[in-house]
Amino acid sequence: MSELRWHPLLREWVSVAAVRQNRPQMPKDWCPFCPGSGKVPDQYETLLYPNDFAAFSPENAPFEDQPAIFGTTGGRGACDVVLYHSDHKLSPAAMPAAHWAKVVELWRTRTEELFANPDIAYVFVFENAGEAIGVTMPHPHGQIYSLPLLPPLLERELESARLHLERDSECLYCRLLAEELHAGTRIVLESELFVVFVPFHAKYPGEIHIYPRRHASSLSDLTPTEREELGGVIKTVRMKYDNLWGFPMPLMMMVRQRPSRGQHPYFHFYVEFRPIQRSRDKIKYIAGVESGTGLFLNDTVAEEKAAELRSAPPHAI
Ligand SMILES: [Zn+2]
Ligand SMILES: [Zn+2]
Repeated sequence: MSELRWHPLLREWVSVAAVRQNRPQMPKDWCPFCPGSGKVPDQYETLLYPNDFAAFSPENAPFEDQPAIFGTTGGRGACDVVLYHSDHKLSPAAMPAAHWAKVVELWRTRTEELFANPDIAYVFVFENAGEAIGVTMPHPHGQIYSLPLLPPLLERELESARLHLERDSECLYCRLLAEELHAGTRIVLESELFVVFVPFHAKYPGEIHIYPRRHASSLSDLTPTEREELGGVIKTVRMKYDNLWGFPMPLMMMVRQRPSRGQHPYFHFYVEFRPIQRSRDKIKYIAGVESGTGLFLNDTVAEEKAAELRSAPPHAI
């Protein structure tokens, strides 16, 4: 069973997918994503693999945005697994920059395919990394959730960006970027086309954002040179995280792009990292206050985390 149910108190849809409970516990000595498993080609560089236990699927009933108390609708969409590499043991941080560029290229081609699909409203590219965050499959991979609706946080962010453009005739993100560059204290790294920083308003300890210097709204709007350089920047950020305390940082990586339908000139593409480790030996839990009120408690200061990450190797891209 898979459907969306209306949450009348928050006025948002909740995805209910009991099918995900049936996900098998993988045997320790067998990986479906390794060549030779029979599930994937014998050789591949990067690979898109349909998620067998998807909350959103092309087979689901279409989504109809008709909110009602006890209202339900279908979750027609898609969930893909993005296999970064055929080598089971190659960590995302260890993948060469040129290979990361291939992953970015796969994100872009799949995004463009889904932007053309009338059932899809939003293409969310992300990765959950580390056992601490619940990853059961060690093979290096990320995911793409293609949703038939705009998720609530994105709607709120789009509204902030739209209001700022209306009021101040500028892109909110371009303004934030200019201010961050001017302050300098939260910058982690700069490349020719991208800026990496811990934002002033970070909710997570050591949260990192990668902004293109040029205003672009989606993977599809980035130039080939920007996409290639983005691969290298992502690799460098991953290495910095893993070198900070000498073990792979459990984190979420999220690619932020405009919705697939309509005009959103005020949205600025970026990649966001949320580590869930708040110190060498402590996990950051989303506990009572955060989950009950939406108010975030960050017990680290952006300027200090930026300095730590700046000095974690490597220092340049
Ligand atoms: Zn594997
Ligand atoms: Zn902008």
